[in-house]
Amino acid sequence: MVFNRVTGIWKRLQTHLQHRGAPLILCSGTLVLGMGALAWLSNDQSGALKASSPSLLDLLDEVGSEAKRERKKSEQTRQPQPPRAISWSSPLAKQCSGFDSKVTNRLQAQQRTLKQRRVSVATDPTNFGERFRVNPWGVALNPDPRVVVLHETVYSLQSAVNTFMTPHPRDADQVSYHTVIGLDGKIVDLVDPLKRAYGAGYSAFLGEWAVTNAKIRGSVNNFALHLSLETPQDGRNSRSSHSGYSSAQYDSLAIVLKDWIDRFGFTPAAITTHRHVDLGGERGDPRSFDWQELQTRLAALKALCP
Ligand SMILES: [Zn+2]
Repeated sequence: MVFNRVTGIWKRLQTHLQHRGAPLILCSGTLVLGMGALAWLSNDQSGALKASSPSLLDLLDEVGSEAKRERKKSEQTRQPQPPRAISWSSPLAKQCSGFDSKVTNRLQAQQRTLKQRRVSVATDPTNFGERFRVNPWGVALNPDPRVVVLHETVYSLQSAVNTFMTPHPRDADQVSYHTVIGLDGKIVDLVDPLKRAYGAGYSAFLGEWAVTNAKIRGSVNNFALHLSLETPQDGRNSRSSHSGYSSAQYDSLAIVLKDWIDRFGFTPAAITTHRHVDLGGERGDPRSFDWQELQTRLAALKALCP
């Protein structure tokens, strides 16, 4: 028993020394410590194992525990592997003809008065941040916005805005979107698209995420634009559907998306939902979203014919 214990601990000590890259110490130390172990063992075999027995086993145990602690630390600081890619088939189809001229005229008139209809709100600085160019392990990150994540507010636009204007010192409470669109079509900008809004937690798009804090799992936030629609009255609950979004909301949504597509150069196929990017399986928004309504409007703005 005792011999087995000594042998086991000795193997752990060897592994530990090898891990630390100490082959020379290992070679020269093997003989000395091996003789010491045998001397101690013969002492033990003669019935001398007492509470105040020699400290070789204690020493070796200590070495083994240290190796375990170091292994755990290195696992915690290792860069996590990105998640498995989940394919996204965009409901938006390429469309280069068959536009509805009435829709085109209406949206173009709205585009001309966009400045008056679009308001900015001062989101508290705890609820957004800079886009990272490098991750905690020194690997370069591409901070360019290249995926749009659609959400819904569940509660009123005003309650969402109040949440974003409230300071949230705890990481877990920090939340924001870049833009929210009210039921009346009002466009409220909350975070500059060049900054990082905290719209999604554990998430990825086509297998890509960015880890910007070694203690928190990856998310799409570093390269995402988050856009939320105010939920209608009958959807302010946890049910799976509601009556849907207003025509004015789809108009404003198409105008904001067209603006972002022109500005950042991503394809409409990169417009997705929080439900799709969420890896925790907890998010189902936006509920009752009608992609055909968006298709008609983006087509009318010639955003679906790259
Ligand atoms: Zn969401």
